[in-house]
Amino acid sequence: MDAEQKANKIRRLNKQIAQCTRCRLCRSRTNTVPGDGSVDADIMFIGEAPGRSEDLKGLPFVGRAGAILDELLGSVNLSRDEIYICNILKCRPPGNRDPSDKEIEACVGSLEIQIKTIDPKIIATLGRFSTAYILQRFHIESAKISELHGKIVDAQTPFGLKRIVPLFHPAVATYNPAKLDVLLKDFQVLKK
Ligand code: URA
Repeated sequence: MDAEQKANKIRRLNKQIAQCTRCRLCRSRTNTVPGDGSVDADIMFIGEAPGRSEDLKGLPFVGRAGAILDELLGSVNLSRDEIYICNILKCRPPGNRDPSDKEIEACVGSLEIQIKTIDPKIIATLGRFSTAYILQRFHIESAKISELHGKIVDAQTPFGLKRIVPLFHPAVATYNPAKLDVLLKDFQVLKK
């Protein structure tokens, strides 16, 4: 698929997401947050769910966690227009509570289309929810993010070989500054 075909497919998907009523989060959302960045990216980042700022703007990682993500991307000379960023959930859970299994199940069809269409070489999962989901989706033995972070896990997937890179969620650095050093170190793996 060339970049224009990918862009058309993602545009169509984003319209469908905007109308989605598959779970109760559609009742409390301001905007859906489908994803952002280059549809032709080699690296796809997958976070957890939109927070307040993301819900208001309809864009992923534009609040406090987003500022940390920008710093981490800058540390490996990556800019947002070279990567694609999305979340497991496309709507904000009220009060930023954890996503429920039901919400994840209702939402991951969109993520599947995003992975298939964008076809990244590397999938970087941000935090335990996206790490757990991607590992089980691609039949990789699960382990805790505290053991996996910063490692490369190769996976044969229905969409070809993908390199999975589990990372801590950038938001952890807002309440545990020491984790920023861990994240900065782990991001170096993306340079390779
Ligand atoms: N946290 C996430 O996981 N995703 C966002 O888009 C914002 C904060």
